[in-house]
Amino acid sequence: MTFKLYPNARESDRLAGWVRLHCELYNAALAERIDAYRKAGKSISYFDQQNVLPEIKADRPEFVELGSHALQQTLRRLDLAFQAFFRRIRAGQTPGFPRFKASKRFSGFCYPDPVGWKLHQQGQRGGTLRLGSGKGAMMIRLRGRHRFGAQAKPNDLTIIRKNGEWFASVTLRVPEAACARARHDHQHRGVDFGLTDWATFDNGETIANPRWTRNELPRLADLQRQRARKKIGSLRYKRLNLQAAQLHARIGNRRRDFVHQKTSMLVRTCAVIATEELTPKNMSRSARGTVESPGRRVRQKAGLNREILSAAFGMAHQMLSYKAVEAGTRLHLANTRQLKPSQRCAGCWAIIPKTLGQRVHMCSQCGHTMQRDQNSALVVLIDAHTPGTGVAAKPRPLGRKRAKSKSMTREPPATTVKV
Ligand SMILES: [Zn+2]
Repeated sequence: MTFKLYPNARESDRLAGWVRLHCELYNAALAERIDAYRKAGKSISYFDQQNVLPEIKADRPEFVELGSHALQQTLRRLDLAFQAFFRRIRAGQTPGFPRFKASKRFSGFCYPDPVGWKLHQQGQRGGTLRLGSGKGAMMIRLRGRHRFGAQAKPNDLTIIRKNGEWFASVTLRVPEAACARARHDHQHRGVDFGLTDWATFDNGETIANPRWTRNELPRLADLQRQRARKKIGSLRYKRLNLQAAQLHARIGNRRRDFVHQKTSMLVRTCAVIATEELTPKNMSRSARGTVESPGRRVRQKAGLNREILSAAFGMAHQMLSYKAVEAGTRLHLANTRQLKPSQRCAGCWAIIPKTLGQRVHMCSQCGHTMQRDQNSALVVLIDAHTPGTGVAAKPRPLGRKRAKSKSMTREPPATTVKV
């Protein structure tokens, strides 16, 4: 669960100071490892470095309030960088050596356990985060709320700085019972995710792509074009860079919100949800639009659209899969290559080839006519009710029969969630 922090100017300065200190520790530890190796051919381990932390704190009292576990975590971060480096060398790759970091680029720090900080939730959607202890503790206002109530026990905390804004990412330990989602309907639905409409269901209902994708994407492309005309590293370049990054983040946030809402709604109402598995092919579908309503400025927007919207397909799949488990909903992922939902006839199961521009499925064999995406959604739903299909099952030739089977419930939800 990530909360947005609203530190006041003083708190913000202090947080930045803490990040600087963590960064300094990281760089010093890196320098020490390099030095020791150059001079004595010796390699220094994480534990060697952890053991001198008390000395450092005695020497430099400003490190004390950062908390010993958080400091250890920064050393561990360096250790991980080295481990990854050596792992890649052993694998015969040519990795980059762990680098010194500028404190501006140092992303933040982490408390590995619930010591030295506390999360207070108050009211409808906010709260405060206490960092440090005693007199010098900071109480930072935050926004965001988890749905688990008092039963959730915070486990670890990461403070992140991004585009000049602060975030707190907390992992919660949640008992199974609190984790489960209430489901108040038991529909069986097939879904086709797409670009024309965000989702089309087997009964013909659709969820439109939200308006802001149409409004904000051209604006982002615009900023990026303007930036391309500026001298790299100049003040104007940097300003446009920040604006583009902020807009990018805002679009990302709104999209994540949107996908969260829709996927929650789906698992709340469905006992079975069927959709296509995620393949690179259906992730890179064109932004061309349709023959009847062709998209505007296709080429300029295509890359951007694809990047952002395909990220959203991945996001939707990921959210659906964990939320389905929490709600006891069966999520069926159809084997796309085998099933070919966009080509197959939901009426007679024949393959009816069509081009991307053909938006209506018209079967030459049985006369079944349906809007293209709705037909795909119906095909994956039928597939979900056919035993032995889907990506979880071993590939097997497809039957022609439409079988109805009872829905199955998945395993009970896991105890730890990263929200
Ligand atoms: Zn047919």
